[in-house]
Amino acid sequence: KVRVRFAPSPTGGLHLGGVRTALFNYLFAKQHDGEFILRIEDTDQTRFVPGAEEYINECLSWCGILPDESPSQPGAFGPYRQSERKPSYRQYAEQLVAAGYAYYAFDTSEELDALRQVEPNFRYSHENRLGLRNSLNLSAEETQELLNANAPHTIRIKMPEDHTVSFDDMIRGRVSFETKLVDDKVLLKADGMPTYHLAVVVDDKAMEISHIFRGEEWLPSAPVHLLLWEYLGWADQMPQWAHLPLILKPDGNGKLSKRDGDRLGFPVYAMNWTDAKTGDVTKGFRELGFLPEAFVNMLGVLGWNDGTEQEIFTLPELITKFSVDRINKSGAKFDFEKAKWFNHEWIKNSTDTDLLPLVKDSLTEHGATAVEDDAVIKVLSVVKERMTYLSDFWAQASFFFQSPAGYDVDAVKPKWNADKTKFFEDIMVDFEPLDWEASVVEPFFKERVQASGMKIGELMMPFRIMLVGGKFGPDVFVIAELLGKKEVIKRVKIALD
Ligand code: GLU
Repeated sequence: KVRVRFAPSPTGGLHLGGVRTALFNYLFAKQHDGEFILRIEDTDQTRFVPGAEEYINECLSWCGILPDESPSQPGAFGPYRQSERKPSYRQYAEQLVAAGYAYYAFDTSEELDALRQVEPNFRYSHENRLGLRNSLNLSAEETQELLNANAPHTIRIKMPEDHTVSFDDMIRGRVSFETKLVDDKVLLKADGMPTYHLAVVVDDKAMEISHIFRGEEWLPSAPVHLLLWEYLGWADQMPQWAHLPLILKPDGNGKLSKRDGDRLGFPVYAMNWTDAKTGDVTKGFRELGFLPEAFVNMLGVLGWNDGTEQEIFTLPELITKFSVDRINKSGAKFDFEKAKWFNHEWIKNSTDTDLLPLVKDSLTEHGATAVEDDAVIKVLSVVKERMTYLSDFWAQASFFFQSPAGYDVDAVKPKWNADKTKFFEDIMVDFEPLDWEASVVEPFFKERVQASGMKIGELMMPFRIMLVGGKFGPDVFVIAELLGKKEVIKRVKIALD
């Protein structure tokens, strides 16, 4: 049975790389009729940020990447927050000590800090552990005494000095590590909480996780996890790992970090993130006006392709077509212009009815509350192909809902004359009996221009400016049709005054 998990730490907004990790886990699970689990890794209480878990939930639902089991929708493997599983970890750490794979370390953080002062690259490892205060050096009695006296202590893994640990990564193939290069990671902290390393292994086992898709930044931790699976006696149930290539800055120069958004002028978070302490808002794709479908599509092809030229994929299509073989081994450069292209395509190809509820806010925001849905739908059908963001709707369409506040007078002024005034005065009257459709108004208008002896451009541009205020917008006769005859006559009149 395929069971995968997305295991974020609730430390702030969700970076797009995090959402991609969730997405790839989800795609793999759904493709194999498996389960996608959300587990909150909150054992590091110092990094816990209130609101972050709610943010993660909201983000996954916005994207349509819905967990089958999660803290808010528990299945049979709960609890789904590691802090609530606290009592389950110590026994495994103790089991490892008893078997000689781990040891108690009584060094206080002050002692370790002092060592770091002298040796900035200090690592607790096979190189120096015999000179430190731990159960490897103390006698059994001394150790027991300290434990009886509740002396603060951690439990550390005893990394072998001369092992090569290897595994087959689903993306990168065979990967090997020399254990002598890895330090003795803390497994259980002085407060009784497990560290990430212990918790992740214990929980992946307890939750019967079969495959793990996670960011490449976790690859250096893999030897620790592998040894833990082995030392705990679970080697035969070890999940398969896939370490996803990094998402790189647009210039390919290093990992796209949470801080890059401000500097590069585009969001790196899925949704707005508000820092509770400072009130600072970090912008997200959702609030910028991305459709979730476009965001998910863009992430789906960040480091993966289906081997054809196809770029637009729905979520169900991604589920069918996803394949681990086609995940790139090298990092994927993030291209914001391309992200915008995806959004534009998705908006353009959405139905007007689907877009309706998504643009209504911008109408309300600008006081255009009395507009009929039908009218908005018609407007959408002509402006959606000019939108990059949902939030572009107002800028592209405001003139449909309110008369122009001013006119680009300079565009017509030098060439204006009495004949032109007369032309519009007459045509307003002759508009009255017309069937009000672009296909009728256009030839009618053009015939009248011809009859007047003036040139089409001389009159069409002023007509546009009268209706919308400037030299912009879609086809002027389509605008006229959507505005309605009454409104067109009214605007021409106002403009002529
Ligand atoms: N809690 C880790 C994170 O924040 C999860 C890493 C993993 O998937 O093993 O990304």
